[in-house]
Amino acid sequence: MEITPLQEWIARKTGISSGENLDAGTLHDHQLDLLHKTLDLAKTNSPFYRHHLRNVHVQDLKSMADIVNLPFTYPRDIADSGLQMLCVSQSEIARVVTLQTSGTTGNPKRLYFTREDLELTADFFAHGMKALVTQGQKVMVLMPGPTLGSVGERLTTGLEQMGCRTVVHGFVNDPGQVIDKINALAVDGLIGLPAQVLSLARWPRNILPGRLKSVLLSGDYLPRAIIDAIQDVWRCPVFNHYGMTETGLGGGVECQALKGCHLREADLYLEIVDPQGKKVPHGHPGEIVLTTLTRTGMPLIRYRTGDISRLLTARCACGSSLKRLDRLQGRSVYRYNGMELALQEMDESLFRLKDIVDFQVTIEKQQQRCRLNLEFWAIPGGKPDLALDIRQILHEIPGVARWINQGMLSINDVSPSRNNLFFNPGKRKIKEIIT
Ligand SMILES: [Zn+2]
Repeated sequence: MEITPLQEWIARKTGISSGENLDAGTLHDHQLDLLHKTLDLAKTNSPFYRHHLRNVHVQDLKSMADIVNLPFTYPRDIADSGLQMLCVSQSEIARVVTLQTSGTTGNPKRLYFTREDLELTADFFAHGMKALVTQGQKVMVLMPGPTLGSVGERLTTGLEQMGCRTVVHGFVNDPGQVIDKINALAVDGLIGLPAQVLSLARWPRNILPGRLKSVLLSGDYLPRAIIDAIQDVWRCPVFNHYGMTETGLGGGVECQALKGCHLREADLYLEIVDPQGKKVPHGHPGEIVLTTLTRTGMPLIRYRTGDISRLLTARCACGSSLKRLDRLQGRSVYRYNGMELALQEMDESLFRLKDIVDFQVTIEKQQQRCRLNLEFWAIPGGKPDLALDIRQILHEIPGVARWINQGMLSINDVSPSRNNLFFNPGKRKIKEIIT
């Protein structure tokens, strides 16, 4: 097994001669230096941060542990004050990403990146991807491109730097058509959303055996059931990537040990905190808090991502001393009158059904109780009584059965979808309708 390529990359970016000499102390010294620079940049150039950090004296931060003395920033800060967070003039912004927020405030979040910020992302991809693809491979990206700064475009730039060819297809809409393209173009690596890549693995017209050398899943939390299902069919390693627009798309990627993402620590500093914002004991789960260390357009300082995970404590089997982030926990939990329904629990059970490609859970809220509807998308020629299997499994899921037994939930309609369910790709979530 090869050590994560991020070890050598981070060592070089930190000014250390080789990965062997990279230790936590040296890395923290370097990160502290970058944090000081980021704080100076933000306090000097951004009206938001000038006010937000008015009580912060940069030189009081003597070690990275002192970062806990800085105030948090929240998604609503980006929604309300995004432009005031800029540290450069708008003419220096090369890419703006607009994200709808889940809250009811209405303002979308806008994130701004300079050309330099975008270059750093491609550089991370060019090195992080070495864990799973090698020079000469042809990689299909099942994510949007080719606009400057999009994930497809940045991956193309990064992968071309390491001598790979890329085909940016965009999201999967018709699995059969994507499979034909993979076979025709002799693609041997795939990058995509977990459920979308699963659809390709399960589709009856499959990819020629031995064709794919590796798969990278990104863009959503990753159920174990999906990793197992893809590995079962294609017999190739399935890598996880952690990232969001706020991390500059790239955030961390698994090494060949496939046990947690090594992080982009030369550019980002991640903390894990409890709901009160206190640092959790090492290895405990909590919310990921992000600080950018090299971002020049719109730095994020102690940004509450809302993502839940934990740092793994043991040294990685690849031999690296770099931190590792476990798979994210699913964020979609429906809460009503003390009832909590987690999509993750349903994903882990239902994606084990071999004929399922995707499904959408909708909760109909009525007085005092809820009805669960499930629309599923099955492979063509799949089991005719799949709906019955799904119903049975739903009743066996502890987190669903509990609420049924307490009379707070009933399973209403379970039926095949008339459409393919990928028309609105993105993070999986439970939908709510009020009747
Ligand atoms: Zn590793």
